[in-house]
Amino acid sequence: MNAPVLETEEHKALRSAVAALGKRYGRDYMTRVVQGEGHPDELWADAAKLGYLGVSLPEEYGGGGGGIAELSIVLEELGAAGSPLLMLVVSPAICGTVIARFGTEAQKREWLPGLADGGRTMAFGITEPDAGSNSHRITTTARRDGDDWILTGRKVFISGVDTADATLIVGRTEDARTGKLKPCLFIVPRDAPGFTRSRIDMELQAPEKQFELVLDEVRLPADALVGDEDAGLLQLFAGLNPERIMTAAFSLGMARYALSRAVEYAKERTVWKQPIGAHQALAHPLAQSHIEIELARLMMQKAARLYDDGDDMGAGEAANMAKFAAADACVKAVDQAVHTLGGNGLTKEFGLASLIVASRVARIAPVSREMILNFVSHQSLGLPKSY
Ligand SMILES: Cc1cc2nc3c(=O)[nH]c(=O)nc-3n(C[C@H](O)[C@H](O)[C@H](O)COP(=O)(O)OP(=O)(O)OC[C@H]3O[C@@H](n4cnc5c(N)ncnc54)[C@H](O)[C@@H]3O)c2cc1C
Repeated sequence: MNAPVLETEEHKALRSAVAALGKRYGRDYMTRVVQGEGHPDELWADAAKLGYLGVSLPEEYGGGGGGIAELSIVLEELGAAGSPLLMLVVSPAICGTVIARFGTEAQKREWLPGLADGGRTMAFGITEPDAGSNSHRITTTARRDGDDWILTGRKVFISGVDTADATLIVGRTEDARTGKLKPCLFIVPRDAPGFTRSRIDMELQAPEKQFELVLDEVRLPADALVGDEDAGLLQLFAGLNPERIMTAAFSLGMARYALSRAVEYAKERTVWKQPIGAHQALAHPLAQSHIEIELARLMMQKAARLYDDGDDMGAGEAANMAKFAAADACVKAVDQAVHTLGGNGLTKEFGLASLIVASRVARIAPVSREMILNFVSHQSLGLPKSY
């Protein structure tokens, strides 16, 4: 199902190799991990050993030398098998990319080999309780104290902070000339004094947990700042485009998983003379889901290609559109899959109902569907802003 098109032979080989790994784990494995309040360490280690986690990172720092196109294939295929690794979105895709593109030589040497071989992970924190979708309003602020930085603020809904060795925190520093606050990125180690986290009780059934973070006068060395103090926004976007592309991959994987469960079921389940899949009322929405998944993947491939070719601006529009289309395809595929299974769609045995919550995440995070529609209204169509 969903044979990928427009891919190189290498991409196809990667896709089928990752799919084979995913098959060895799958949804039952993830369910056991979540029920045991654990983490998918075995899958993470196997994916690392095969070079999948670091596929997008530069070869000279232990990565595979590929791009987001390859990493998105890894995430989509693991998801299609029912065992997605959310930390791929933040650790190699956002943090790895930002450090590879803008970090100092020392930061690259310190972090990239570990992010590539999965031995270390990094979370990413931008969302704040009083800013939400309006990241221009974030107030986490860094001030200089000698050579050090002192970081103070709050973050919310940050994924995987408990397992990550550090979190890449988006803060602000004061522009010496204008006094205006500008975005800056800081690596905050998990156990830094003054850096505390509390778990948010989510309805989501996933091994990666979300946390509220408090940064209370966290003292960081000068080299905790990633990249140029004056090019903060540009650096931030370098990480946010891969985040959107990877979220699209996450959604497509889940959509494919749900659709394939529904198709399997609809071929077998017979309550009249024919399997229920013969009824067009069931078959057509499944066919439509297949079309929506294929279309969203095309946009994801376009976004990844533009990004990997260095076109940050072009990639921005395509990445937003891909994320929007994939999230919608995912929500609809999961809804239709649950419906196709009738009562079984709501049983623990078939395990589809919990995907209703999980599929909604892609419509909200990392950027909501409304904020993407705003982006397209303003940036693509030139319409005036309402806010
Ligand atoms: C499971 C999960 C994991 C997450 N992981 C991370 C993470 O690792 N790191 C991180 O930094 N963040 C993370 N987030 C946070 C996520 O990025 C935010 O939830 C998201 O950006 C939306 O912010 P908000 O929740 O404050 O919603 P709000 O900004 O309060 O928005 C609420 C609603 O209002 C709508 N809205 C707001 N403004 C407008 C407008 N101008 N026009 C139209 N509609 C508007 C939104 O679309 C939304 O529907 C995660 C969230 C979830 C649910």
